[in-house]
Amino acid sequence: MASPMSAGGFLAGLRAEGLTVVEVGDWEHHNRNHKGPWGPVHGVMIHHTVTKGSERTVRLCRDGYADLPGPLCHGVITKDGTVHLVGYGRANHAGLGDDDVLRAVIAEKALPHDNEANTDGNRHFYGFECENLGDGRDPWPEAQLDAIERAAAAICRHHGWTERSVIGHLEWQPGKVDPRGFTMASMRKRIRDRLK
Ligand SMILES: [Zn+2]
Repeated sequence: MASPMSAGGFLAGLRAEGLTVVEVGDWEHHNRNHKGPWGPVHGVMIHHTVTKGSERTVRLCRDGYADLPGPLCHGVITKDGTVHLVGYGRANHAGLGDDDVLRAVIAEKALPHDNEANTDGNRHFYGFECENLGDGRDPWPEAQLDAIERAAAAICRHHGWTERSVIGHLEWQPGKVDPRGFTMASMRKRIRDRLK
């Protein structure tokens, strides 16, 4: 059970972890809080965008689509490892997922297989969208993987969470495949080593 970080604290935490951060527009007040609650927060969710081109990717994640308004995450991590802050508060990234998974994240236990979509994830997860086509062939540059590791670790550090509070969208919602191209187990190991 944790209250979300302040926007200023979020920005400072990312920078303290050694990240290059770009603030996009009025990101601190761009959110979906009028549609539902934001918090308590329990974890961090990693996604891929299925897009190519950093500028276009950041714009899409800020604005969203006609049937899925933005922000689509809090931070966009582009191929060069830059974190672009596009929103803060409730964001349209996690959708409905499995309550058993949420319980495991809260307890920081091994994740059960996600087989239900019955729980509001936008309320409970920080979200990072990562620029990648998600076809299993588009490479994940080391700078980008390093930034994912640092961004997740910064949030875990603030809340006193372990790497087990960091999950992929594919571990949350049945049918999702993101992120594709590296394993969440390998990313959690990196985060664990960083938090030591
Ligand atoms: Zn996703």
